[in-house]
Amino acid sequence: MSDRMHRPSAGQPDGLVDSVLDAARERLAMDPPPLDRARSPRDLAEAAGPAITADGIGADRALALFTDVLAPACLSMDHPRYLAFVPNAATEASTAFDLLVSASNIYGGSWLEGAGAVHAENEALRWLADVAGMPEGSGGTFVSGGSIANLSALAVARHTWRSRRPAGVPVLGADTAGRPVVVVSSGAHSSIGSALELLDLEPFVVPGDALGRFRPSELPDAVLDDLDAIADQVVAVVATGGMTNTGGVDDLAGAADLAARLGAWYHVDAAYGGGALCSTLRRHLFDGIERVDSMTVDPHKWLFAPYDCAAIVYREPELARHTFTQQAAYLDAVNAEGEWNPSDYAPHLSRRARGLPFWFSLATYGTDAYRDAVDRTIEVTVAAADVAREAEHLDLVMEPELSVLLVRRRGWSSQEHWDFCHRLAESEIGFIVPTTWLGETVLRYCLVNPATTPEDVTALFPPA
Ligand SMILES: *Cc1c(COP(=O)(O)O)cnc(C)c1O
Repeated sequence: MSDRMHRPSAGQPDGLVDSVLDAARERLAMDPPPLDRARSPRDLAEAAGPAITADGIGADRALALFTDVLAPACLSMDHPRYLAFVPNAATEASTAFDLLVSASNIYGGSWLEGAGAVHAENEALRWLADVAGMPEGSGGTFVSGGSIANLSALAVARHTWRSRRPAGVPVLGADTAGRPVVVVSSGAHSSIGSALELLDLEPFVVPGDALGRFRPSELPDAVLDDLDAIADQVVAVVATGGMTNTGGVDDLAGAADLAARLGAWYHVDAAYGGGALCSTLRRHLFDGIERVDSMTVDPHKWLFAPYDCAAIVYREPELARHTFTQQAAYLDAVNAEGEWNPSDYAPHLSRRARGLPFWFSLATYGTDAYRDAVDRTIEVTVAAADVAREAEHLDLVMEPELSVLLVRRRGWSSQEHWDFCHRLAESEIGFIVPTTWLGETVLRYCLVNPATTPEDVTALFPPA
């Protein structure tokens, strides 16, 4: 059996590798892929039946189970009318190359083991640092998602804060129970809150403006006074480069000023919005991001990489190294050389070289194609916003800053908005989910797929 498990079968008639690659080829050729939809756990269990048995059911049956039952119960995030949450629109190059990355079985944790992959990943990280305007020497790694990237950044911020605090200085501040604090705005992503919880850091939440954006220059003096009073407790200031719910961009230069005033680490979470760093139409909204100590960008959101691929980039990577490098006798060979080890820049050790598909796609198409694709999604957002603004029966909830559109159907209750989304999903016309804005249920459309047309978006608007 173990012999059968490991002997290559490519090229043989009915070879397992051919079957799987054929299925992958078929999926890659679908344009568009079927939208598909989830099934209930019981329904799915019944349809799938037990697959893991003592003797194995064989590749043909397992593959058929996947293509006929399991895959159709997974939404196609790259469908042009999948506009919920944040879609995915991996390029053909990145998806195809992902197969080769798997086949190459690369260990992406260390230079010793994966130098070629690490070199290429670092070139892709350098491009992200360049479009953000971060200096030479910046660097980081690719992790599974923006959530882990944010956690990594805040862990480094805390480690750095601790190591710089003069020994014996008591931590003051009754409000914060003496704990180190992180300044966040009410529009920060939920992953920031969970990172603070995990790191036992206290959030100091500041209100956003009318569109939910963090505008430090508009903070009341009393808030600034409070912050000044606990400046030596402030570990970091976090701003968001593209709020997931609304697409609004914080005042990133103002947040940089606030971090400098408090002597704190400056982190920008651009997990979703980071794609716009290469845009000609919206790059100006990100002015100030070049001053970050750390930045999160998810290429699996608006930069057309397959899951999972999130970048964490540090201005001074050695601070991350001090935070994360694992010491163990069996790792001495990895740590001895002083080479660039991706495992040193996040709380991980073994890792897939998940930045490689992104690198291959950038190399294949060129960065101008990325700029054009991001600009295209912004133009489509603007065109769809125009339709919503003109329609008698719709309210455009706010002017879109990036590529998120919030729309309300006049006269509809919250339930009617939910029902409408369910009907779209049931009929597999499109997939959106409602969100809440200022206590009201509204429809949310998030565009990152250059294949999405204005007509795709407006087809998902409620009828008159
Ligand atoms: C999506 C998102 C995250 C979380 O990223 P994951 O890749 O889903 O973990 C964090 N912050 C922002 C602003 C996001 O849009």
